Amino acid sequence: MYRFYTSDAENKYHYDELCRVFLTDDCFEIIALDMLPKQSLLGDKSFVLGDYEGAERDVIKRELYEKLSELTGLRPEWGTLTGVRPLKPALEILDERESLDEMREELRDRYLLSDSKLSLLSDIAAYQRRYVSGNPSDKISVYAGIPFCPTRCEYCSFASNVAGEAEIEKYLSNLFREITYSGSLYKREPKEIESIYIGGGTPTTLNAEQLRSLINEISAAFGVNPSEIEFTVEAGRPDTITEEKLVALKSLGIGRISINPQSMKDETLRLIGRSHSSQDIRDAFDIAKKIGFDVINADLIAGLPDEAPEDFMNSLDEMISLGAENITVHTLSVKRGSKLHESDPEYYRRDIERVSEMLDYSRAKLKAFGFYPYYTYRQKHQMGAFENIGYCHENKHSIYNIRIMEDKQSILALGAGGVGKIYYPNEDRIERVANVSNYEIYSERFDEMLARKDRYFGG
Ligand code: SF4
Repeated sequence: MYRFYTSDAENKYHYDELCRVFLTDDCFEIIALDMLPKQSLLGDKSFVLGDYEGAERDVIKRELYEKLSELTGLRPEWGTLTGVRPLKPALEILDERESLDEMREELRDRYLLSDSKLSLLSDIAAYQRRYVSGNPSDKISVYAGIPFCPTRCEYCSFASNVAGEAEIEKYLSNLFREITYSGSLYKREPKEIESIYIGGGTPTTLNAEQLRSLINEISAAFGVNPSEIEFTVEAGRPDTITEEKLVALKSLGIGRISINPQSMKDETLRLIGRSHSSQDIRDAFDIAKKIGFDVINADLIAGLPDEAPEDFMNSLDEMISLGAENITVHTLSVKRGSKLHESDPEYYRRDIERVSEMLDYSRAKLKAFGFYPYYTYRQKHQMGAFENIGYCHENKHSIYNIRIMEDKQSILALGAGGVGKIYYPNEDRIERVANVSNYEIYSERFDEMLARKDRYFGG
């Protein structure tokens, strides 16, 4: 057990987080004391951090990083950055400094980022500067959650359930009431809606008629025409996609869908609990391409069990050749609540080189095929403490994904698992207003969900 002493109790959480990148919880302890002990009195597994005047959090984190690196032989590429949104500090620096070179330099000095992560942040910042305009806080986004899937994936920690038709109908009738109620509150003081996103779960678990009703309810409640704004429906699992459903979406003006294979290797799909084959993914792409959506996004995961770098590379190559305009490369995150975490909680600490090879390949290959990285975020328990990166063809980015990561726009979230945000521009602060994530409790406590909408709209 390594022990690190600090007098900075206020930032203990941040030091804990950094230690977790290198060590399991039972291998370290951060001890906050007013009076620090002398290093010479401690054993060889105990260390004093920041024992000098003016030691600030960033300085202590760098000291801790170097010490952990010395002890473990690891040098995680994100340096001392541990938050979900690595682009945020980069953009803050860019606001002050104006030049990307200076931004990179300061990020390197302050957070010890690797060259590869510096170049990633720089590319994303450059893309957003060029293609994303407008003040995000002048507008809002709307999210609606459909917490159902045909089966539950091994790594899933989302609001996802396998449910019968009656349960889905009951959920939808409440969701429609929440949509109508929120729409009436919204219309009292409307703000332009920049994007609408239907996620889950897998929204295309609904049948064509239910999907039509859902989109019509949202359009009527908020007075929008789906073809005039960015409107995305996650079609997620190919085993839920039919021509009838996609035709219904397209005829209502939906321009963007997601088809998320995660892998094109049949054995992997079986292993992670999916009930479809890689051929189903090809068929879903064929249908979607024939119908003609503006953008098809495809999610892939690097680091799935038993996948060699070549398996991931084949999946990526196939997504490019199937014509996805938007490809999101996730690094597997083994979160609490997932089956994979239950069976192997430390899975995410192993085989880091394998994942690194996959990610390096995806960066180079997507660049060669005209894709730009346009947003990134990190999650807990992600293999190698890497990240997720959204890539797109020029001007095919998802503004919803960018806004969600910026934290500078209010998001109205509807349905079970929805986490809304209220942005206060004067204080540059976000307040979260969450619905419950369990769809049965959502229905049981439905009046409370409506009351939360009153709060959201300042009632
Ligand atoms: S498709 Fe997504 S939401 Fe559904 S079970 Fe799999 S990981 Fe979870």
